[in-house]
Amino acid sequence: MLLKKTFEIEGLQIFAQRKRVKNLRLYISQKDLQVHLTVPFYACEKYTLEFVHSKIKWLKKVLEKMKANPPVLQNLSEITKEEIEELRNLISNMVPLWEFRLGVKAKEWKLRKMKSRWGSCDTRTGKITFSTGLIRKSLRCIEYVVAHELAHLIVADHSKKFYAVIAKHFPYWKEVRRELNIASC
Ligand SMILES: [Zn+2]
Repeated sequence: MLLKKTFEIEGLQIFAQRKRVKNLRLYISQKDLQVHLTVPFYACEKYTLEFVHSKIKWLKKVLEKMKANPPVLQNLSEITKEEIEELRNLISNMVPLWEFRLGVKAKEWKLRKMKSRWGSCDTRTGKITFSTGLIRKSLRCIEYVVAHELAHLIVADHSKKFYAVIAKHFPYWKEVRRELNIASC
């Protein structure tokens, strides 16, 4: 595969791009509902196609959902300062609660405009970042991301152990994760 390529699988148009990344990644752009595929330089075409095929069902489901309640219009407008303050307020209330539940303590947390993720946790420093875009999501989505990032202070990766921690405290996490339209964060 060349560096950039658009191809079609089962009626879905996929825009693929080779990048310096570790894993294959599929996501749908909220702006135009275009399916994007990020491919590591070393990944072979056969494996890549197999990966995409295995995700087609999921992609179609997510796409349908996104079309049914388009986040597009909401997301086109800039997030205002008031919204950011509202989000800061919400998260300030959620963080201590989840720190207590999980028995962890974040060193600090901040809000930042993030393109492809809802949050991140630097487990080395204990610093957490939340996407300002969360303000356009439901409360339980915001709460899930807070719980998710704090849970990384217990388990750094997305192993079974990690999701066991999540499931214990956040039983409906799968549902919320679908609402967030993400594979990971
Ligand atoms: Zn994560």
